Amino acid sequence: MRLVTFLQDGKLRLGALCTRDERESVVDLQRVEPRLPNDMLTFLEQGEEAQRLAVAALARATDAIPLEKVILKAPVLFPRKIICIGLNYRDHAAETGQAIPEYPTVFSKYANAVIGPGEPIVLPRVSQRVDYEGELGVVIGRRGRYIPENQALDYVAGYLPCNDVSARDFQKRTSQWTIGKTFDTFAPMGPALVTKDEIPDPHRLDIQVYVSGELMQSSNTRNLIFSVPYLVAYLSQVMTLEPGDVILTGTPGGVGDARTPPRYLQPGDEVRIEIAQLGVLRNPVVVETERS
Ligand code: MG
Repeated sequence: MRLVTFLQDGKLRLGALCTRDERESVVDLQRVEPRLPNDMLTFLEQGEEAQRLAVAALARATDAIPLEKVILKAPVLFPRKIICIGLNYRDHAAETGQAIPEYPTVFSKYANAVIGPGEPIVLPRVSQRVDYEGELGVVIGRRGRYIPENQALDYVAGYLPCNDVSARDFQKRTSQWTIGKTFDTFAPMGPALVTKDEIPDPHRLDIQVYVSGELMQSSNTRNLIFSVPYLVAYLSQVMTLEPGDVILTGTPGGVGDARTPPRYLQPGDEVRIEIAQLGVLRNPVVVETERS
């Protein structure tokens, strides 16, 4: 299933993307199956039973809303945690002049940064070096601590394209990166949470990032240094992972900051992140306007 959070008539709903008569549309899951909740976090907390209900609802749904009649939001709008992994592709570690790490580098974004497909990345007035980072996102589906690596995928709900937008000037002021990573709008994700049954191996996915049509990053998740099961197991040694938590697994080579000359995001750009089987995440880039 391709699960989405969408707005219709001003209300947030839980849906599934489907293709009907060669058109993309959205099935409002709770409308078909009233036992389902209308938000993604509650849905994920209800685990496999809710997934079964949703699969059955999708199969019998007769009403689907054309995609253009709804507004897609980030699939998980208010994750309790957004855990980011740095330097997890060999070529990206090399282009930043860093050694291949022995342990994952971990930093955070907060829910203020989350935006969905089509929503603008806002260039903060205090940064001149805002960069893109296309990444495979992993969404946790089951609560766990000290999760064994060989059971780690049992705790995963699914996957989605993410952008670890980064203000390099703020990021590099100190040894800790979080300050450059969690500006408002710096965590685009979506369009859908693709459930793991559709992705037998998350380490075989092509990932490409385009900025205003120009290919900037092109890799495959097989090049991850630390695998998804390793990361889930490692992080769960430290913190209880909960449904809806999102892990950004790191970005491949080709970021704007490592280019000659550097290629930072500009107003009017569009960042497009494509991950095979997971869909396409597009976000326009805009300047910050005066706020009260
Ligand atoms: Mg990153």
